[in-house]
Amino acid sequence: MGSVDIHREKAIAEFWEGMRDVAAAATRYRDDNLFKALRKIGRAVVLRGVQIPGGGLFVPCPICKSVPGQSCINVPRHPLDGELHPERVELAEKAIAGEVQIPEHEMPTP
Ligand SMILES: [Zn+2]
Repeated sequence: MGSVDIHREKAIAEFWEGMRDVAAAATRYRDDNLFKALRKIGRAVVLRGVQIPGGGLFVPCPICKSVPGQSCINVPRHPLDGELHPERVELAEKAIAGEVQIPEHEMPTP
């Protein structure tokens, strides 16, 4: 059964890799429809039990309100030191650990 799990893990990793590519395109073209599509797809798979990846890109940012797939933006008192706010990375880690639930209305919605 181990090999089945490996295939599943690999498929999930490739899925999120594809999501990152789409997120990069959405950012490049500033395309809100692509961000909406990312939210729909992300929500659908998360509801089916697929875990969000670490890093924070696919959770909404509690600081600057960036949506899943969107890079963080500078906001007063929270200058960016990278692509994402540390609080967002932490939120993703907690969500993965099952310590917090991403509020339904902030998660990808259709
Ligand atoms: Zn942010």
